[in-house]
Amino acid sequence: MWSEEASALVTADRSLTELRAVGPFTATFISRWFAELPDVGAPPPIRDGFLTYAHARAVVAQHPEWAAALRADHQMHSDETDGSAPLEGMAVAAAELGRQRIAITDHSKTLRITNGMDEARLAAQGRRIDELNARGDGPRVLRAIEMDLTPEGASDMDPGALARLDLVLGAFHSKLRLKDDQTDRYLKALANSDIQVLAHPRGRVYNFRVGLTADWERVARAAAATGTALEIDAYPDRQDLDVERLRAVAASGAWVSIGTDAHTTGELVFLELGLAAAILAGISRERVLNCLDDQTLADRVGVVRAAKRRGSAERSDTTMAGGKRERIDTTPGRKGGSRYLRRDGAGRFSNDQTSAGRSVAADKRIAAKNKAPKGMKDRGD
Ligand SMILES: [Zn+2]
Repeated sequence: MWSEEASALVTADRSLTELRAVGPFTATFISRWFAELPDVGAPPPIRDGFLTYAHARAVVAQHPEWAAALRADHQMHSDETDGSAPLEGMAVAAAELGRQRIAITDHSKTLRITNGMDEARLAAQGRRIDELNARGDGPRVLRAIEMDLTPEGASDMDPGALARLDLVLGAFHSKLRLKDDQTDRYLKALANSDIQVLAHPRGRVYNFRVGLTADWERVARAAAATGTALEIDAYPDRQDLDVERLRAVAASGAWVSIGTDAHTTGELVFLELGLAAAILAGISRERVLNCLDDQTLADRVGVVRAAKRRGSAERSDTTMAGGKRERIDTTPGRKGGSRYLRRDGAGRFSNDQTSAGRSVAADKRIAAKNKAPKGMKDRGD
């Protein structure tokens, strides 16, 4: 989580103790590694495919047009559930970082470990947000939620309550250690007419849980067809989706939504990790919800809701099979998504390589050794 590479400090003849959490003792170790490079193998799957903060910052610095276009942070938590600051405090801290819009996405009722909200608490939070927006002195605050999806992709909240929100994220928080292919589960979740964003799709956590396995090309195509955005969760330990899978998303023309999943005001800075992942994967800025102005985002949420409701009415079952495949596009002046197709990632993600070969027993050993970091609360199975 250093904001600069250690090598940059060495090159500039600066002290390694400038790095966060590095004292003289650790600095000596690192200096020795520079003098004689140790043989470092490839990271195991549970630690693979994560960007360093320093790398992300360097990527973003090379693409100022992205930083200028990215106006919003679409996932964060307040002390209404498992965050540490009141929503007003999150808004002030986000404004200081230049965010023009934030979504308050506290947990829903099934996730009891986080003190998840029921419909009444959600409505009360919405009134607080309305009052904050009426003052007009901060970023636009979206009434939103990170709703817990059942393993079958269904909602745990009243659809009417969700329909009154500005943005609905759905996320899996259980059965995240299954080893077999979960593509069908994703297809059901993406077709859920209550949600517009599938949050932290893989459910991976650095050095804690490797994440679910799926045919990500099919998942990305289903996201494009249903209009559901796939999230880039920029929480440092999540980075979910990751750059490799985002290449399949870029090729599909699906939309993405970027959120820090911050549980403290200090974690709001990590939006750059999500931004860098989008840039490295070749996602088009015209496919990022965070780059839309407030009205265009609201219009798009409305279009996606209407199309998905039509879709579920037409489907005889809850799966995508036999459902109407409809391309939804509210980008001003654009029709269809073909302009944004990128083919360079095609054919590389037919299955999830990173979890191949890992045994359940090995995962259990890792889980026993590594407690979930703060902000990673889930039912853990
Ligand atoms: Zn979550």
